Amino acid sequence: MIQLINANKTYTSKSGIKVKALDHVNLEFNAKGLVFVLGKSGSGKSSLLNILGGLDSANTSKIMINGQELKRFDDRTCSIYRNTHIGFIFQEYNLMHNLNVYENIALALRLQNKEVDESKVLDTLALVDLQGLEKRCLDELSGGQKQRVAIARALIKDPTIILADEPTGNLDSQTSNQIFEVLKRLSKDKLVIVVSHDREFAELFGDRIITLKDGKVEEDTQAKVDEAFIALPQAIRARLPFALKAKMSFENIVQNKLRLMVTVMIVSFLVAVLSAVYTALYVSADVTGDLMDL
Ligand code: ADP
Ligand code: MG
Repeated sequence: MIQLINANKTYTSKSGIKVKALDHVNLEFNAKGLVFVLGKSGSGKSSLLNILGGLDSANTSKIMINGQELKRFDDRTCSIYRNTHIGFIFQEYNLMHNLNVYENIALALRLQNKEVDESKVLDTLALVDLQGLEKRCLDELSGGQKQRVAIARALIKDPTIILADEPTGNLDSQTSNQIFEVLKRLSKDKLVIVVSHDREFAELFGDRIITLKDGKVEEDTQAKVDEAFIALPQAIRARLPFALKAKMSFENIVQNKLRLMVTVMIVSFLVAVLSAVYTALYVSADVTGDLMDL
């Protein structure tokens, strides 16, 4: 569990103007789940992610991770914190273009002074549906495949938290869908926090949606994910027009209501039958008693 307590961040521009990027932000995150951070450009989303990931320090704040306080934001503490807990994914992938897919993932292990275990690298590539592409140069990959290499690179460190800043910002809607499907799968075991500006994807995939405005948390809601919709093959979902998606959500609500009504009717019927049986027994016992008295 990670807690961000009273995070404030003010930037001073070169001309001396102060900008409050985060303003008294308090947030708590569970160990698992897919959390979306939404908000307009400049609302503080990247600042929040960078502070959570130890890439930047807040002016005042406290981060508690698994009950332990990350006391100082000096370079050494931040670097240990990042290496142990955080996997970053960026909009521009930030991959090494002179290395192939396998070498990009292996580099993440080397940078942590860890042995490169070939089977672990291949298993991680399989987790993001890139099996068989390990020898490919990055130029031979699509944008979505590059982003999945970046996800694999973040994953190989086995981080506690995956932080993604606009991971689908450069991708079309169908490819974005594939990336969110991968992140959703990973969020069954890890906390995944995604900055995005796409509310529709957030509502489709998110377990929770945090909306920032002027550096403050404006809204923090648990999203209702339409499981019936998620279960559809993505190729079909991608082609569904918005009206149909809305209709499916509506039908899902109606179906739930119908299920509730049927349950109420069955329970009422059972209660009626039981009370009839009880009355019959009680009355017949009474009548028999009366007859005996005679
Ligand atoms: P978002 O990711 O939601 O677009 P940011 O967190 O990047 O927002 O920025 C929040 C505010 O802080 C913006 O007004 C931005 O201009 C300002 N800001 C961000 N980084 C810097 C910086 N290094 N120097 C000065 N101002 C900055
Ligand atoms: Mg940003």
